[in-house]
Amino acid sequence: MIDRATVDRIYAAADIVDIISDYVALKKKGVNYQACCPFHNEKTPSFVVSPSKGVYKCFGCGKGGNAVTFIMEHENVSYPEALKIVAKRYGIEVEEREQTEEDVRRNNDRESMFALNGWAADYFAKYLITSTEGRSVGLSYFAQKRGFTEATIRKFGLGFCSAVGDAMTMAALSAGYKQEFLTSTGLSIVREGDGKLRDRFRDRVIFPVHNISGRVVAFGGRTLRTDKSVAKYQNSPESEIYSKKRELYGLYFAKKAIQQQDYAIMVEGYTDVISMHQAGVENVVASSGTSLTTEQIQLLHRFTRNITVIYDGDSAGIKASLRGIDMILKEGMNVRVVLLPAEHDPDSFARAHTADQVRDYIRANEEDFLSFKAKLMLSEAGKDPIKRSAVVTDMVQSIVQIPDSIQRSVFIKDCARIMDVDEGVLIAEVARKRVQQAGGGREAEEFLRRQQALQKPQERAVDVDITKSSEAGSSVEALEYELVKYLLKSGHLSYEILEGRNVVQVNIADEIYYNLDTDNIRFISPVFQKIYDTYRQHWQELGVGVKVPEQYFVNHIDPEVCNMAVDILTSDDNLVPSKLWQQKDVHVESEVEILSNGVPKAIMLYRSKVIDRMIKVQLQRISDESLSEQEREESVKRMTELINARTKISRESQRLIL
Ligand SMILES: [Zn+2]
Repeated sequence: MIDRATVDRIYAAADIVDIISDYVALKKKGVNYQACCPFHNEKTPSFVVSPSKGVYKCFGCGKGGNAVTFIMEHENVSYPEALKIVAKRYGIEVEEREQTEEDVRRNNDRESMFALNGWAADYFAKYLITSTEGRSVGLSYFAQKRGFTEATIRKFGLGFCSAVGDAMTMAALSAGYKQEFLTSTGLSIVREGDGKLRDRFRDRVIFPVHNISGRVVAFGGRTLRTDKSVAKYQNSPESEIYSKKRELYGLYFAKKAIQQQDYAIMVEGYTDVISMHQAGVENVVASSGTSLTTEQIQLLHRFTRNITVIYDGDSAGIKASLRGIDMILKEGMNVRVVLLPAEHDPDSFARAHTADQVRDYIRANEEDFLSFKAKLMLSEAGKDPIKRSAVVTDMVQSIVQIPDSIQRSVFIKDCARIMDVDEGVLIAEVARKRVQQAGGGREAEEFLRRQQALQKPQERAVDVDITKSSEAGSSVEALEYELVKYLLKSGHLSYEILEGRNVVQVNIADEIYYNLDTDNIRFISPVFQKIYDTYRQHWQELGVGVKVPEQYFVNHIDPEVCNMAVDILTSDDNLVPSKLWQQKDVHVESEVEILSNGVPKAIMLYRSKVIDRMIKVQLQRISDESLSEQEREESVKRMTELINARTKISRESQRLIL
């Protein structure tokens, strides 16, 4: 936790134009700045930065926030990490609360390890270019054998570690790095016998592994010797800063392109990624050696839901990796598969083709993963009925992983066709497996049986999804948005109503709080509730009629509140046109008129929606057979009350509309 005072200091120092300029080229336009949005692909700029308000907003994709949430979004780091990045930039010392000594030590250790890895990456890269050994062995391999250009070699930080045995270790020690961190990062190994330090990567070309924010967390070293007794690859061990299953090679360089093109290409090794980049295809990552993990998929999921896995034409590993893909399905990703022509791997294919050719080939040859798998397995099973039924079981297992029910039924149809089995059989099997997987015991099975009995067999196109809870009412959320918008934009304003013969001033914030308090309503959406609570706190301090400063929301401690506040404050709708705000004196009448209609209507609608939901809950309760007689009576009574309340509201709202 970073304390509030430090957060405030960070926000005070952060210059949003300065920070965003690091990522996109901003052009001054009037009092604001403009650019093409870094979060979605566009040709005409709709991304606007307001230095006076300290916010950014994209009018194309809707993303908006402040300087810190921009870093969060763009670097895909947590809020505290983003705060620290901004703090570091402006030389603000971050005091963190509630850190134990152990935390402090571990953080220092992590920082020391990052520092050493950064130094080592530079050292290897320099050694590749400047030493005779590096040039003749390493550089000639990268440049001639692999065809990497100087720019590519520099971009990926490729390097070479001398064959001497302890050259890197000695250089690190004399540069002041501690032995402790040489071993904890795995850069050096303690030799058995004499206990001397040796370079782990001696006599190997070096591929640094960057994490998502571009820091070097590990290295991969490849030997160029043909000697079979030497392992081809040597990798950094797991450490405080490196977990193999949590990193994807190339993601740091690919994330922007993946986001913009909304799909990622998955290849196998370091050189596949690098060659594709050099060819101009930049949305490429590799799981590098390990089979895919759930963590890696979740990492990728932050940028896209679409993955295309590329296999070598003659790869024997396809079948083994099919299992891994079930995991991708489980994360709700769309997976496609491309087979390269038999003579190619991604590396050689990229070198032999232009970026457009590579992309065209992928587009033309990619195939939905499940159809691909079904075909592959069926061709292996041949005519053997036992093997064919094993294929069906296997396919069902894959389909079961897909979280979306509509997508699932599409796949069921496809698979039924490809495998030539009855669709109804597949549907029933998938449904049964899903019940099992959901951990549903007898009740779930019973529920499923009843559901199926209710449907005629041919209508069971979409199988029953009992793992999903009922969806949140979107219109209730829309009304919560509207109410919060009235608060933020016009909570301090008042309008006049006639009560009897008297003209009464109604303050908007007062009206909203009074009404929702009456029914004891809490917002369904936590972020709206937070804005609602924050506004109330400041409103009570400042007094009725005083505008609560936007900064309280735009620079709120909760980043979700920041982004939502920017969204609301930059939303431009017909109710309160922004021009009216700038020329308040001239148009104030019509603005208040609009509000005097809109606010009570929104409150009324919201209350009736919330009551509707409560009625539904009671209805469900009453139909529950296990309810006791007394409980049922209470439920009926409560429902009657609610229905009366709803009638009253609808009468009031009719009056409003008249
Ligand atoms: Zn955008």
